[in-house]
Amino acid sequence: YEQAKVLGLSTLGEPKDVLRLHGHSISPPHNDLLTLRFLASPINPADINQIQGVYPTKPTFTTSLGTAEPLAVGGNEGVAEVISKGNGVKGVEKGDWVIMRRQGFGTWRTHAQTTVDNLVVIKDKEGLKPEQVGTVSVNPMTAYRMLKDFGGGLKEGEWFIQNGGNSGVGRAAIQLARLWGYKSINIVRKRESGMEELRSELKGLGADVVVTDEEVESKDFRDQVKEITNGGREPIRLGLNCVGGPIVNTMAKLLSPGGHIVTYGAMSKKPVSLPTGLLIFKDIHFDGFWVSKWSDRFPEQKEACVKEVLDLTRQGRFKDVPMDPVTWNYDTKQEELVTAVQGALEGFRSGKGIFVF
Ligand code: NDP
Repeated sequence: YEQAKVLGLSTLGEPKDVLRLHGHSISPPHNDLLTLRFLASPINPADINQIQGVYPTKPTFTTSLGTAEPLAVGGNEGVAEVISKGNGVKGVEKGDWVIMRRQGFGTWRTHAQTTVDNLVVIKDKEGLKPEQVGTVSVNPMTAYRMLKDFGGGLKEGEWFIQNGGNSGVGRAAIQLARLWGYKSINIVRKRESGMEELRSELKGLGADVVVTDEEVESKDFRDQVKEITNGGREPIRLGLNCVGGPIVNTMAKLLSPGGHIVTYGAMSKKPVSLPTGLLIFKDIHFDGFWVSKWSDRFPEQKEACVKEVLDLTRQGRFKDVPMDPVTWNYDTKQEELVTAVQGALEGFRSGKGIFVF
């Protein structure tokens, strides 16, 4: 029997009000069941929105963990190790690492018991850290698909512009773009301290231009863009929107005719207003992307994409995002875990929160 703990909720609300630590025991796996020990589970913005009840997919409530009221385990992404399996389990061995096939698994837990159809097996974990495997399937995947799938994808030498340039997705986009020969203009929020460090950090990842949300509004910047794009001959065909609000209009104005703005996040909670002139006269397209839906539709492509990014990671060509690990062992207090979750939506953070077991 495994003594397991989960960080879960029985009603929707602010994480600090609704999350609680619950203990239960897991019996030895039989037939097609496997028992997992979690290694690393990130705290993504969407996980919090899900707990608040403002996300399209709701947490998965169940009474199977021995609670009187249905309980949902928080978290959607993570990596676990297979520690035992039933006789009927094929294609996975004890010691293998697995990630979740779909949203809604509940990954903020020390252990879980499940079947293999809910998992993607990581075939070659050699040279990889749990934090890397545990964060591969949401942010890098999102960046990857957005760069490839809109407006026929970018071609070598073409540009994209993005806000939230320092977000997990943004950093992944910068790095993939560099590997594929695309150039990037990256907008970040102006900060009182650490601005120059952030600029050089993103340039180190492969960013061509890093600009603050204030600088991007200036006439100087528009002139600069003309210059770096060779008088507009190198098109800016794609804009990635993590944030929303008026900055999206500024980005849209910098796009070449026929360009696409792809919205994937709404960090500022401000809406995107569509500029009619750009729609009519420049044929700018406004699209959205949701990686959960993409992964559900294209499970094989997801596996291939995960493998490709992990290969790049192993070769040192794709770097992890800065992380803020929270160690979770048997004695860790509920308060510490809840505080880590509650803090994860705050701005100007030094790294992504991640539970490490
Ligand atoms: P991170 O926590 O890594 O980054 C958050 C980013 O948001 C930082 O760039 C931060 O900038 C910025 N930010 C925070 N608060 C604000 C604010 N009030 N106004 C403007 N910017 C702000 O996040 P992720 O990369 O994991 O996710 C980023 C967004 O993308 C989230 O909205 C997430 O839900 C979404 N997402 C969507 C996916 C999809 O399939 N559609 C998949 C993956 C993520 P600063 O450092 O200046 O605070």
